[in-house]
Amino acid sequence: MSKKLPTRQEDYSAWYNELVKRAGLAENSAVRGCMVIKPYGYAIWEKMQRQLDDMFKRTGHENAYFPLFVPKSLFEAEETNAEGFAKECAVVTHYRLQTDPDRPGKLRVDPNAKLEEELIVRPTSEAIIWNTYKTWIQSYRDLPLLINQWANVVRWEMRTRLFLRTAEFLWQEGHTAHATADEALNETHQMLDVYAEFAEEHMALPVVKGVKTASERFAGADDTYSIEALMQDGKALQAGTSHFLGQNFAKAFDVQFTSKEGALEYVWGTSWGVSTRLMGALIMAHSDDDGLVLPPKLAPIQVVIVPIYKTGELDALMERIRPIQQGLAQRGISVKVDSRDTERPGFKFAEWELKGVPVRLAIGARDLDAGTIEAARRDTKQKLHLPLANVVELVADLLNDIQLTIYNKALAYRASHTTRVETYDEFKAVLDGKGGFVVAHYDGTAETEERIKDETKATVRNLPLNEPDEEGVCIVTGRPSQRRAWFARAY
Ligand code: AMP
Repeated sequence: MSKKLPTRQEDYSAWYNELVKRAGLAENSAVRGCMVIKPYGYAIWEKMQRQLDDMFKRTGHENAYFPLFVPKSLFEAEETNAEGFAKECAVVTHYRLQTDPDRPGKLRVDPNAKLEEELIVRPTSEAIIWNTYKTWIQSYRDLPLLINQWANVVRWEMRTRLFLRTAEFLWQEGHTAHATADEALNETHQMLDVYAEFAEEHMALPVVKGVKTASERFAGADDTYSIEALMQDGKALQAGTSHFLGQNFAKAFDVQFTSKEGALEYVWGTSWGVSTRLMGALIMAHSDDDGLVLPPKLAPIQVVIVPIYKTGELDALMERIRPIQQGLAQRGISVKVDSRDTERPGFKFAEWELKGVPVRLAIGARDLDAGTIEAARRDTKQKLHLPLANVVELVADLLNDIQLTIYNKALAYRASHTTRVETYDEFKAVLDGKGGFVVAHYDGTAETEERIKDETKATVRNLPLNEPDEEGVCIVTGRPSQRRAWFARAY
């Protein structure tokens, strides 16, 4: 606890890993690539879930739950999707263990308990869900079908990192079915907007909305849209995706409906998801060398009160602190009083700083007598003296200001780390220098994209929406280009 974190400058990756562990967010487990999410980390995830879930419901979606296992014959039905995920699937082949005759007290797989058909642990649920939709959808009256599922999925990732990329992760996956291509496209964009609003308003994280190139497209989609964020080491992170599935899954699972005109047609689909990766984004985007910096809207504890007292005076002081605590709670602010008699204030300050609590109130009898309270904001480390008389309103204002300040800081970082370049030399120089997004023309071919990736490790993050077309020439081949792409090295 007392040992300092590695600084971001020294070793960004070690800083991140240490921070995740020491702040009590998550830790590695006995299972390769799988993490234990600890109570404080899970509390942040729950706040994310609650907010996202409200936004999904407000846009007309309902929650449902589908099985963890996908029979192989269903999994392989949509071939592009199956091929895309095949390399990272966990597969269940047996359903029973037995005592091992050669190793007393140990178990082995019962060779007589082989499944007739292997079960795939879902890496994503399109297959099982579209197979179900076949029975749910008959007529245009059954559409649109707007379903979301909160679940865990498994992708056998080779290089894992807490929250950002794990073999098992928690997420939500929306799966919708529509009568027309237009409706499905509107849904795809609507959910991308929901994700962007969530990232910006709640995570205080500016994002770039755009369309992915064909090589980065979700397997089985006609188009993939993403929100991309920038971390403090200049690397980008895909924070959410929304896919226009065309009629691909409808055709693979024979999901047809009778239109108003009486014709039999295939339905149009979308899917969209964000995962516990958002936790990684939140940590990496805002935190500093002293610990987490949490935006107030997602902080499990928004205000911590640390009593400042001499031996024997705690009980009397607590009597005076309680009304302040209640006032804050009644205003909807989550507040914790750290009345542990076993730790000194300095220790408590450092601990709550590490945990990213946005506002700390240090309350002593002398300050109360004088009618003031000392507040410290986590984001800027600034100290303020708040008049006791309207401390609740002032703390509420302070929390709003912190939310905004964190966002503006991230936005300013992104602005200073987004560079338009005209040549490949410039492109490489920026990547090897300050990093960040590099905005450049390229000819739009998979070959050029691949070459840039091989030579620089940068990928096209996306082609931003709502950017005007602009004539230019590819920085690599000199061929004509209609629009710029946003490149970056990414997690
Ligand atoms: P996808 O289904 O591939 O579009 O991914 C849906 C969401 O999950 C995206 O926001 C991804 O960034 C995220 N994601 C993909 N793989 C992982 C992983 N191994 N760990 C955590 N999040 C992931």
